[in-house]
Amino acid sequence: MSSTEEKIVEVEIATAEDVDKAVKAARAAFNNPTWHDLIPEDRAKLLNKLADLVEANVDELFTLQAWDVGKPFKTSRDFEGGHLIGTLRYFAGWADKIQGRTIPVSKDKFGYTLKQPVGVCGGISPWNYPLTNSGWKLGPALATGNCIILKPSEYAPLATLYLANLAREAGYPPGVVQVLNGYGKQAGQALTEHMDVDKIAFTGSTTTGRLVIKSAAVNMKKTSIEAGGKSAFIVFDDADLDQAAKWAIAGGLGNSGQICSANSRILVQEGVQEKFVKIFADIAKATKLGQQFDEATQQGPQASKMQYDKVLGYIDSANKDGAKLVIGGHPHKGAGGKGFFIQPTVFTGVTRDMKIFQEEVFGPVIAVTTFKTEDEAVSLANDSAFGLAAMVFTENLKTAHRTASKLQTGMVWINESNNTDYKLPFGGFKQSGLGRDCGESALEEYLEEKTVHVNLGLKL
Ligand code: NAP
Repeated sequence: MSSTEEKIVEVEIATAEDVDKAVKAARAAFNNPTWHDLIPEDRAKLLNKLADLVEANVDELFTLQAWDVGKPFKTSRDFEGGHLIGTLRYFAGWADKIQGRTIPVSKDKFGYTLKQPVGVCGGISPWNYPLTNSGWKLGPALATGNCIILKPSEYAPLATLYLANLAREAGYPPGVVQVLNGYGKQAGQALTEHMDVDKIAFTGSTTTGRLVIKSAAVNMKKTSIEAGGKSAFIVFDDADLDQAAKWAIAGGLGNSGQICSANSRILVQEGVQEKFVKIFADIAKATKLGQQFDEATQQGPQASKMQYDKVLGYIDSANKDGAKLVIGGHPHKGAGGKGFFIQPTVFTGVTRDMKIFQEEVFGPVIAVTTFKTEDEAVSLANDSAFGLAAMVFTENLKTAHRTASKLQTGMVWINESNNTDYKLPFGGFKQSGLGRDCGESALEEYLEEKTVHVNLGLKL
């Protein structure tokens, strides 16, 4: 447990042989008329039933997730719980709205398209939002009639296992939803390389994402990748600075900074830097760090010792590179001096060449850089190998929309940050990924489009 460093429980790890068994079971389920021929309305009913069961078991699910990764229980149950239930219901609503197109070609011919499920899907997720990520994969996969095998992170095995139990209780036929715990390099890779898996939905780091793309090439699996980010939060000098600071706290330090689209870089227009940083730092300093089940806790620990060490390493590098430490910068002693807690940390004077500007820290560490003009803000924001998200704070509509259109990111939040909605596509440009989770766009990731040519009278 990341807040006390104690062992919770031991979990079985899946081998390549177990993966093969799961794939065979999924293939059998996919070909079985019980699932394959189920009418869309009944697929919707099953997904809604799963959502009802998640709602009825939300305390248990989020208790397990809080044990897994140390997230404050109450906040994650209330926000992520609602999000998970909403995601499943949203995709249930799509089940009977999957449609192809009719395309006129000539007086002798027309074509139409059929949208059909891809088949057997693998869903590989990280540890930072185990349940949300499972929901983002289960929802569109099941609404479109696929079978799916989830491989959660080795650091967060418990909550997703419980979710699998709920899927069984909801009435999914055996083999349609499966969960395999195990190591990425073993179970994850076996799933990605398997010749009878048709699609991999991966969420995790950019480095692993590249490996997944290579392994999936073995049989040209359909692949979607949701990877890392280094999102820039741009504060123009006409912005509501109080609101900007509050959103930047939520989107940058929320979940202990372990958010793929965290606004870990803040770009502030020169004239308001001092004022903005003061408001931001005062709120950040008052953050209550603590145990996941203490209702007053606002920030939990980093999810693992590995993450804790990595984040402290980035703090060290920022200090060495000459950034100015404004607050934090040190571990925080949890109960009994235990737990992987790190103080909310803010650096100013960060420049493009620093590691802390370019690399994903994935911790409660914010890098502040100043800019003079809109062009400079856009150039700084786009100076990144990542392209997941950006945030723009201004009271000027023209500045907001002009800037949004110039940012090389899959998502832009105007006057808010990380207020994600399952009805809207989620994903990145550049090395932040391929494809989209959430929204109507996610359905395409789990569908094949078949073109049917119809000859109305052309003779040879
Ligand atoms: P990670 O190390 O890349 O692991 C992600 C998943 O891939 C885990 O289940 C991991 O298993 C598995 N894996 C590892 N090596 C593999 C391989 N060779 N083949 C197949 N699977 C393999 O990422 P993480 O540390 O868990 O998560 C943090 C990262 O996720 C951050 O970069 C964050 O930005 C990103 N993320 C992105 C989004 C998004 O939507 N864009 C959302 C959330 C998080 P193990 O656990 O055993 O290593």
